[in-house]
Amino acid sequence: MDHFELQRRLKASGFYQGDIDGDMGAATMDAISAFLNNGRVDVPQSWSKARRVLAAKQLVCRNDGIEVGKVDGLNGPQTEFAFEVYAHRRGTGPSPVIPARNVDPPAAEPAGAKPVWPRQADVEAFYGAVGANQVRLALPFPMKLAWDPSKSVNAITLHQKVHDSAKRCFERIADAYDPAARKTTGIELFGGSLNVRKMRGGDRWSMHSWGIAIDFDPARNGLHSNRSNARLAQPDCEAFWRIWEDEGWVSLGRARDFDWMHVQASRL
Ligand SMILES: [Zn+2]
Repeated sequence: MDHFELQRRLKASGFYQGDIDGDMGAATMDAISAFLNNGRVDVPQSWSKARRVLAAKQLVCRNDGIEVGKVDGLNGPQTEFAFEVYAHRRGTGPSPVIPARNVDPPAAEPAGAKPVWPRQADVEAFYGAVGANQVRLALPFPMKLAWDPSKSVNAITLHQKVHDSAKRCFERIADAYDPAARKTTGIELFGGSLNVRKMRGGDRWSMHSWGIAIDFDPARNGLHSNRSNARLAQPDCEAFWRIWEDEGWVSLGRARDFDWMHVQASRL
């Protein structure tokens, strides 16, 4: 999260009235102090300016329900992960780099009719307003919350139009991967589905805003992941992706070689 984004958030929540210029000047620092105070973050006098700024960014994540750990102004792995989740939700991750050999042969057509999902530009027309028409999907196998694996996830929230398709996928995944395999591959780690984020300044909505995208094991399949280092790019995950692709879902990893955690019910 950059300084501009922090200022935008401070402004949106009424703590800051100045320009969005990325300058951590006196007005911004005053806003940060008020914001941290409002969030009941204890700020010792000894904290540097940089530490206060980072703490405010952590608090933005925490307020958004992203597991960021202690709001302490220190940049550890949990904080970096939270910022990655934040950027991902906003759809402001790195621009996809499209390598020459990025297109896999199309999956064989299943016997039944394969759903055809809208292109990203047409998702609103197809799915309706962001955050609307959501239903719960009971999972055929228990998942774990990626950022707190002590918490089980037995149902997830998705758009009603993708519910049946996702249900078929999860059932096939349960057949193809036993508990040990789901653990090894990270398929059991749920990284989020519905997540409505109001964008500003012409930013677009994340596909998660419609509940038509699901993330798996974000820690090992981050925005900067690629075929060589993403866990879900390894051969033992091939069947997992085929299952989704049989239902017309798109893996950003397999299609564009980034954001390997993510699968969506819309075409690129
Ligand atoms: Zn995602």
